[in-house]
Amino acid sequence: MDVMPLKFRPTPSGRFLFCDDAGGFFEAPQEFLERYAEGRLTGDDERFLESNGHGFGRPGDLRFQAFGYRWARRLHVPTQLDYVILVPTLRCNLACSYCQVSRVNESTPGHDWDRRTLQAVIHWLDGLHTEKIKIEFQGGEPLLRLDVLQEIREFARQRFATAEFVVCTNLQDVNEGAWEFLSSVDTFISTSLDPTVALHKRNRTGTEGLTARFLANLDKAQDLCPGRVSALPTFDPDALPDPEAVVATYASHGLQSLFLRPVNHQGFARKRFRTRDVGSAWNDYVRRFIFALIEHNAASSTPMEEFYFSHCLRRVLLSGHDGHVDLRNPNTLGTSYLVVDHDGSFYPTDEARMMGRLGQIDLRMGNVHEGFDPAIAKAMNAESLNTFDADCIHCPYQAFCGIDLIDDLSRYGRIDMPRHETDFCKRHLGIFDLVFELIYSEDEKVRKSVALWAGLERLEPELLRVHS
Ligand code: SF4
Repeated sequence: MDVMPLKFRPTPSGRFLFCDDAGGFFEAPQEFLERYAEGRLTGDDERFLESNGHGFGRPGDLRFQAFGYRWARRLHVPTQLDYVILVPTLRCNLACSYCQVSRVNESTPGHDWDRRTLQAVIHWLDGLHTEKIKIEFQGGEPLLRLDVLQEIREFARQRFATAEFVVCTNLQDVNEGAWEFLSSVDTFISTSLDPTVALHKRNRTGTEGLTARFLANLDKAQDLCPGRVSALPTFDPDALPDPEAVVATYASHGLQSLFLRPVNHQGFARKRFRTRDVGSAWNDYVRRFIFALIEHNAASSTPMEEFYFSHCLRRVLLSGHDGHVDLRNPNTLGTSYLVVDHDGSFYPTDEARMMGRLGQIDLRMGNVHEGFDPAIAKAMNAESLNTFDADCIHCPYQAFCGIDLIDDLSRYGRIDMPRHETDFCKRHLGIFDLVFELIYSEDEKVRKSVALWAGLERLEPELLRVHS
């Protein structure tokens, strides 16, 4: 019998985790590692490896083909363009201290789509081949251009078989027309709620009055749009609050999911906060946070999840979780999603747009008037996969991990950094270490939360094989 190449890493249990290229995994002791490395596998070893999908006979047999199928299913297949981020204005009615979207003051002229750009955007949307579309409105504060949002949504609803809309709003000033717009069942709200109310006031709203107005609007949104409101906190890595306080803040507003993000190394934030290499301190915080959530879920009837940890957990347990654009392999630019900036320019991602604003690098890919220019996508997409990366090929997490070229470019000014030196790699090693520590845990509280976050009734032992 031949064995698919196995990559390994020590675990806190004292054993080793072994993974193959298709995402199959198991734990085994050091003695097995030595037998495997020295070509001394026993009959028991071979039977275990075969039963767990790591062994095969001659090329072409069913086990070999099944492995190839599982390997292929781990890859993201770029779809046609069906997700667009539209920035109809850069103007904003707040000036948050870590604003990462390069905003301008509400009264500043010349930072909105004009009529000609709006018509060109509609014309471009009309020419897309997809029948389903997701349109995310960003800014600035997109509700300052409710008229544009209405026109785009009206057009998309009649043009596409399925259309879904997300409004990324600070929920600071919401008039009756905006509430009516947000109340439609095909429209979702994404807002920012900082880790604690005090931090929200300090970094975003600035006064008690504005903070109270935002919180009232958040509660109204929860009532008016049940199940369609998400909120994201932003964390200053040098002032991380107690996880329990953050969980309490989110629970008190009926939110059951949050997405831990350190201040992005983008836009204006990098001038005010330490953002570049937050790796190990951030991983320690994520770990504390996940354990706080486990305690919360053990005692509460309304469980809570951390979106990114749950996403990584699901990517470990099952292929096909490629919906999150920052964690895919390959992660091609300019294919399945695109950003249209306030001047009609195309960008591969929102972060690429910010880098352009800062004068770091111009990653524009044409514009809505003259059409899409594939030159930058072609140049970068040759590097947009981890499959042949000199570090990733030795990493047991390769099948679950991904790549984020724009993040590398932003932090290091290049896309060819040794992978293990990147912030992306350090953060993901930490997350996947934690994922495997928890799914192999025998603590009932841990198992309850892990099953919940994975979308399973319970963690079946067949999923978590251990070889002796
Ligand atoms: S980026 Fe790092 S964690 Fe991810 S597969 Fe590569 S080496 Fe592993």
